[in-house]
Amino acid sequence: MAGKKVLIVYAHQEPRSFNGCLKKVAVETLSKQGCTVTVSDLYAMDFEPRATRNDITGPLSNPEVFSYGVEAYEACKKRSLTSDIVDEQKKVQEADLVIFQGKLALLSITTGSTAEMYTKTGVSGDFKYFLWPLQHGTLHFCGFKVLAPQISFAPETASEEERKQMVASWAQRLETIWQEVPIPCTRSWYFGQ
Ligand code: ZN
Repeated sequence: MAGKKVLIVYAHQEPRSFNGCLKKVAVETLSKQGCTVTVSDLYAMDFEPRATRNDITGPLSNPEVFSYGVEAYEACKKRSLTSDIVDEQKKVQEADLVIFQGKLALLSITTGSTAEMYTKTGVSGDFKYFLWPLQHGTLHFCGFKVLAPQISFAPETASEEERKQMVASWAQRLETIWQEVPIPCTRSWYFGQ
């Protein structure tokens, strides 16, 4: 889809890793469609993931007792949030599609455990359970429409052939990503009836 803007939030240390490969394939496939693809490479950027008072520039509204929620809200209104946050907010606002590629993010994630371990009766429970706080609690809450997650199970223990298959199905899915309908992000999607 020419003209569409895609933001990939990428969190992995090693560009030659399986995660690096999934990111590379996404950039290539979407760029070929004519999309403008931006990558926020959080490790390469040395992005500060902690919520600290350094996020607020200028005077605090209550310097005695620091409340991040209050100060961030005020700083947002006064446009005094630190520039690395403002830059990322702008990228998210401008994007038509945001892909989170990382161990603890969503839509495109890799796991340590196998698919069997992430079933209702498996040791880790249904993988949808751990998507609830991220997909529903964070993304849906922030106004995103959520597409089905792309989960690459246990690439570390998979065979080379299985890994190639996972990358290929990701590339194939991206070919028609713009026709996908968001999931119904409701309690029953995650937990059944
Ligand atoms: Zn939801």
